[in-house]
Amino acid sequence: MKKAPVNKIIPFSNVDGPGNRTAVFFQGCTFNCLFCHNPETIRLCADCGACVPGCPAGALRVNGLGRVVWDSARCVQCDACIKACPHDASPRVTWMTVEEVMGMIRRTAPYIGGVTASGGECTLRCEFLIDLFTEVKKLGKTCLIDSNGSFDFEADPRILSVCDGVMLDVKAVEPAWNDTLISYPRDLVLRNLDYLIKTGKLAEARTVIFPDRDRENEETVRYTARRIQNSCPYKIIRYRPYGVRERYRKLLGETETGADYAERFARLAREEGAARAYVV
Ligand code: SF4
Ligand code: SF4
Repeated sequence: MKKAPVNKIIPFSNVDGPGNRTAVFFQGCTFNCLFCHNPETIRLCADCGACVPGCPAGALRVNGLGRVVWDSARCVQCDACIKACPHDASPRVTWMTVEEVMGMIRRTAPYIGGVTASGGECTLRCEFLIDLFTEVKKLGKTCLIDSNGSFDFEADPRILSVCDGVMLDVKAVEPAWNDTLISYPRDLVLRNLDYLIKTGKLAEARTVIFPDRDRENEETVRYTARRIQNSCPYKIIRYRPYGVRERYRKLLGETETGADYAERFARLAREEGAARAYVV
C-alpha cells in the first residue's frame, strides 16, 4: 500500500488556493531556496537523534531500530525539535496512506471547496497524489497542486488529468540570481510555466519580491507577466524573514519587503498584461 510522508494537514486554509481548502503538506523538497520559510520540510529525517534530548514533553525517543519516533499525543508543538535539527528536517512527519489522508478530508469535505497538495514539493509523491486526487474528485471537490516547478508536467501529464490546476512559483529568471536563490536549473520551471499556460492548467503564478533587488525582481516579474497575461492570478509576494534560516537572513536581509516597493512590481506586471497581479 502506497504511503507518503505528511508534515501536516491544515483542515481549513484560505491561503492555499481560492476559497476554503484542506491543505496537505508533504515532506521533502527538490529545492533548497535561501528564503524558504519552512525549511523543516526540505528533507526527510536522518534519525540522527539530535532533536530528542531537547524535547520538553518527552514526545521524542529513539526506538530499538535506531529510528526517531514522535508521539503526537505528548507533543506540545513548541518547535524546539525543528530548531535543533541540523538537516532541515522534522521528526513530526507521519507516513500516511491515501485512505488515512482521505479519512481527514472526508471530515472537512462539507465545508471546503477543495484540496491543495503542498509541501515541501508534493510532486515528489506523484503516484500517491494521483490516487489521492482520484478519491478527492469522487467527493466533487477541486484539486490543486502547489509546486516549485521541478516536476516535468509535459513528460508525465497524468497528474494534470486528475487535478484542476497548478499554483507555480516563478522564483527567479535571471540565471545568476536563480543560482544564488535556488541552486536548481531554472529551465524546467520556465518550460512548465509555458506548458501549464498552454494546457489551461496554470491556476496561479507567484513571485517573491526581495528588498532592494530592483533588477532581479523586475526581470522575473516582467518575464512572468508577459507570459501569463490574463490567464490566471499573479501573486506578488513580499519577502518576509520570519522562519528563514539565520545564515540566509543575513544575506537576504532582516527586514520584510515594503508594501509600496512590492506594489511597484505588481503595477509593472499589470502594465505587461498580467491584469490580475496583486500583492500579498
Ligand atoms: S514540537 Fe518537537 S520538541 Fe516540541 S514537544 Fe513536539 S516533538 Fe517535542
Ligand atoms: S528531525 Fe532532524 S535532528 Fe531530529 S532525528 Fe531527524 S534529522 Fe535528526
